[in-house]
Amino acid sequence: MNSARKRSCASSAHAATRGIGYAAADRLRRETCGEEVSYVVTRNIQYTNVCYFRCGFCAFSKGKLAANLRGPAYLVPHEEIVRRAVEAWERGATEVCLQGGIHPGFTGSYYLSVAQAIKQPWIANVQASWVKLGPDGVAAALRAGANDLGGTLMNESISRAAGSTHGQEMTPEQMEALIRANGRSPRQRTTLYDNAPAERRAASFGAPPCREPLNPPVRETALSRRGKPGDALVSSSK
Ligand code: SF4
Repeated sequence: MNSARKRSCASSAHAATRGIGYAAADRLRRETCGEEVSYVVTRNIQYTNVCYFRCGFCAFSKGKLAANLRGPAYLVPHEEIVRRAVEAWERGATEVCLQGGIHPGFTGSYYLSVAQAIKQPWIANVQASWVKLGPDGVAAALRAGANDLGGTLMNESISRAAGSTHGQEMTPEQMEALIRANGRSPRQRTTLYDNAPAERRAASFGAPPCREPLNPPVRETALSRRGKPGDALVSSSK
């Protein structure tokens, strides 16, 4: 068998293996979730593209360190942030996500005044990110309308790569201590804001540390640079 033929056979075998894997995943999905495909009506409000970090993957930020990237620098006023949130609600949204660069002029009070401005009667939950704010910022956010601290974030790495120094994971014990220290009552929730089942809570307290994550160098993953969309799907699910 010549080498081209061998490559073709190997590629067919991989395709067949992938096909079996897809079918098994699809069967499991049908058994657990039925035929529904969920989605959420949401709006991302990107309040500024000015950022003094320079994350290598970011084509959004604008600042001295990324002055030549596309689009002019902007900073959305509070009233416009509120207007977009109201408009999102009127258009059926149940969630808004505030995203943006880290403007060198921002202090904690900027985020707090945004939280206060956006807290409306029809917005039930306002999440503050402990990994971005740290304990002092969390305390301030909880006094300014926030009622959720987001996830415990096992293996968080993106915020730290962008310069945050507030740690990688906050265990449920630490999370609840922080909440109590701010005079509030902790409630562990699911992604849909329901109470976490007792069994999940029990598993989360006293859990052993995560094993060291495996992040092999990309060159060892044998993923071709010009993969087909299906290849990328398999790779990203690993
Ligand atoms: S912190 Fe965010 S906005 Fe700033 S460069 Fe990094 S990814 Fe881009």
